[in-house]
Amino acid sequence: MRRAICFDDVLLKPRYSDIETRAQIDLSTELTRWGKDRLKLPIISAPMDTVTGAKMAVAMHEAGGLGIIHRYNSAEEQADLVHDASMEGMCRVGAAVGVTGEYEKRARLVVDAGATVLCLDIAHGHHLLMKSALNQLRDIFGKTIHLMAGNVATLEGFNDLNDWGADSVRVGVGGGSICSTRVQTGHGIPTLQSVFDCGSSDRDAILIADGGIKNSGDMVKALAAGADAVMCGSLLAGTKETPGVVLRTDDGAAPRKIYRGMASHEAQKAWRGKIGSIEGVSTTVTIKGPVADVLHDLEWGIRSGLSYTGAYNLMELRAKSRFVEQTQASQTESSPHALLKF
Ligand code: IMP
Repeated sequence: MRRAICFDDVLLKPRYSDIETRAQIDLSTELTRWGKDRLKLPIISAPMDTVTGAKMAVAMHEAGGLGIIHRYNSAEEQADLVHDASMEGMCRVGAAVGVTGEYEKRARLVVDAGATVLCLDIAHGHHLLMKSALNQLRDIFGKTIHLMAGNVATLEGFNDLNDWGADSVRVGVGGGSICSTRVQTGHGIPTLQSVFDCGSSDRDAILIADGGIKNSGDMVKALAAGADAVMCGSLLAGTKETPGVVLRTDDGAAPRKIYRGMASHEAQKAWRGKIGSIEGVSTTVTIKGPVADVLHDLEWGIRSGLSYTGAYNLMELRAKSRFVEQTQASQTESSPHALLKF
């Protein structure tokens, strides 16, 4: 049996750098290997009903990233959200679809409304139904639409989704902050290990690390391990642009917003009126203000990360980075620990 590494198990070695200012660093990333389709910021917001609606998609686009509008509504409602984001920012916007039922109709509606990225969004993406949906959507849209697919945890899964037609693949099963898949099913692989494994692929698909990314340090580790971009839920949850109401109490506590897994009891009940296997949880998070501020901090954290490796861009980061494993004692040393003493 092999060991599998997660974000906190490793650190990157600081290396010689000649970068004089972090503004010199280029964080842009290709969305396809062959096109000139670049994101200025390698961050994508998750297709969850407490993360990405029209406002988040616009804000992600404005920051140089990408938003994937969730599919937990009617096809018409989702198309309206996509339309609102086209209208507001004339922005590049992604939209999630499933792989069964009315997914074709949904895909046509959101593409007509302006989506140029379709995200085939299922928990276990290494699946026969993914293969037929990818074939079907490629037949319908040809190469005009970017097909993102996932999630997978293994190199075999990554390669198959690539071979079935995916332009990009979401990598990570069971690592999400609101995810209980590993507890419920016993399955999953630490996200960083999956990124290492899939990063060794000889295929062209873009690798999106997804699930369990807690800070910009984890983003730098994922990008160094082979990811072209990262997808985030919890890091963006609670910001002004997320869908959902602000929850206030009379006791003076900070206002909060809901952040929930799409396979949580609460989310399943809300979007399909029945409960299957519960593989997520629902929680609330303190509100955080505009997402642009959060993305600004994350961006500068990633820039700083690249400067510690001496990398001017993401390709150099991948080539130059060297990982070390850390012990549990080192994990304590690695986070601010003055607070533990007093
Ligand atoms: P986070 O950034 O760690 O909060 O993880 C977000 C990711 O968790 C999403 O992009 C999905 O891949 C995944 N996810 C969303 N909802 C669920 C769920 O209910 N169960 C398991 N994983 C989920």
